[in-house]
Amino acid sequence: MTSDPISISLAPLVPYMDPDKSAEDTARKLHQKAAGEPAQTSSPKMNQRKAVGIDLGTTFSAVAHIDAYGKPQIIPNAESERITPSVILFDGSNVIVGTTAKNNAVAEPEKIVDFIKREMGKPKEQFHREFGGKVYSAEELSALILKKLKLDTEKYLKQPITDAVITVPAYFNDAERTATITAGQLAGFNVLQIINEPTAAALAYGLDKLNEDQTVFVFDLGGGTFDVTIMRIQGQHINMIATNGDHRLGGKDWDDIIVNHMAEEFDRRHGENPLLDLQSYQALHTRALSAKIQLSSRDQSAVVHHHNGKSVKLEITRNEFERRSQHLVEKCKTICEMVMQEANMTWDDIDKILLVGGMTRMPMVRTLVSQLTKAPVIDDVNPDEAVAKGASIQAILSLLEEEKVSGEQVLPTDTRDQFVGREGGLIQVTNITSHTLGVVLWDEVHLEEYVFPMIRKMTAIPARARNSFGTAMSNMQRAVVRVVEGESTLPGECTPLGICDVELPAFLPKGSPVELTYEYNANQVLEVSVEASGNRAKVSIERNTGLAPNEVAQAAANLGSLRVA
Ligand code: AMP
Repeated sequence: MTSDPISISLAPLVPYMDPDKSAEDTARKLHQKAAGEPAQTSSPKMNQRKAVGIDLGTTFSAVAHIDAYGKPQIIPNAESERITPSVILFDGSNVIVGTTAKNNAVAEPEKIVDFIKREMGKPKEQFHREFGGKVYSAEELSALILKKLKLDTEKYLKQPITDAVITVPAYFNDAERTATITAGQLAGFNVLQIINEPTAAALAYGLDKLNEDQTVFVFDLGGGTFDVTIMRIQGQHINMIATNGDHRLGGKDWDDIIVNHMAEEFDRRHGENPLLDLQSYQALHTRALSAKIQLSSRDQSAVVHHHNGKSVKLEITRNEFERRSQHLVEKCKTICEMVMQEANMTWDDIDKILLVGGMTRMPMVRTLVSQLTKAPVIDDVNPDEAVAKGASIQAILSLLEEEKVSGEQVLPTDTRDQFVGREGGLIQVTNITSHTLGVVLWDEVHLEEYVFPMIRKMTAIPARARNSFGTAMSNMQRAVVRVVEGESTLPGECTPLGICDVELPAFLPKGSPVELTYEYNANQVLEVSVEASGNRAKVSIERNTGLAPNEVAQAAANLGSLRVA
């Protein structure tokens, strides 16, 4: 087989910067300057580290830590709430995150940003919001939410928070994961690891149930994303077996059912569309969301909407709501069936169902689950808190791993004793890849491009694949590796991750071997290397997603000048 050039790259966790000038340091120094604190010249002492787990949600976020008794605990925010709305209000150079911002969504919609998680991984040209003459990317906006969580946690625990494990939907791709790491670093965290939300939920559930072998189906329907994952808890091991999902399916789609129902009714009665006005839309969305929540416990609810001096009262029953949402429930069902197929399992193989995400409180979701399987639903886990708690457990596991490598103590003795002292030693978590990672090659016979899968979906992580390809012509000057993510063999149907462009030695004959290696690390971020004629090179992927390296430094400076509360 011959191929178009291949080049490889190291896909960096974040765009590479000189360590002395890293975004994290820059952000920290800028913050210290703004707050009048003495500048920290070296990283905190190893034994002073404190790590948290963060569920960075589409609609709500939560933080947890491991307490002195080795138990995960949610940390309330400055408003004494256990979860913080992922909503930002820009008010001059002040940034308000949380309930106050959410409550202002109707009065000042032009100053509000929400549902940022759905935009993660997009380049700035594709998604940005502008406030006070400054343009913010999805990473920067997420960093502001993380910053609020960090400040509130430090105030509550009365100590600096250095490290974090941040969760992402299992179905997040490389670009979305990289953007989440950048957001964490911009907020001033050392991001220990990015872990999958269902893995975190399984960790929170499984901590006390290790050694009770069981296969758990994690059904995670949040404000903006849907993930299903099959996990096996066996001895001290928690293994991910299969995962699938839709990162654009969540609570908002159910809210929009009521919003659109009202808009139709408004149009029918008054010949006007109330959704064309941002303020009117926000007001309606808020009412629709609370009607949706009411319909989880009541048979009917009502929404009243005023617009342009006219009003409509819409009575909606649970039956009617369920009928109108049927296509969304069907989507969930299809994804559940797909993951069972991928795992090569039947519903009889599932021992327990773990429901995660606020939307799983809806009766129609519980009905779907009971129709799919007779396996019992675990009901001793709070769907809003499980993910953050699991992430806080992973934070300790990551720090213990670091201790093992460095031989240096980074955790308080009591915390370490709680974890290492557990029967059977440390918990081992194994994740799998949620997407296939491939390279675009040239097919000389059919004269067309196709995708060659390097690391297939559902491979255990960390994963490594090495393959040899040939140069497509003699004296080829460069190998250009196009890295893609997706299940199709057609390049147009996969997500391009970026390009690695490598110079080749001169005068190579046609078909000269080019070795391509893909390595997928624990954060599920890709590293690529190329070897041609004995020269081995790790090359950065020129990513076409997220923030460019020069934009990261700018972002750190931008954020440092804002006051976050
Ligand atoms: P999460 O991202 O996991 O915090 O999920 C939040 C989503 O769950 C939002 O869309 C909420 O409106 C929704 N939600 C929370 N509680 C309920 C409830 N009791 N009934 C229906 N939806 C809910």
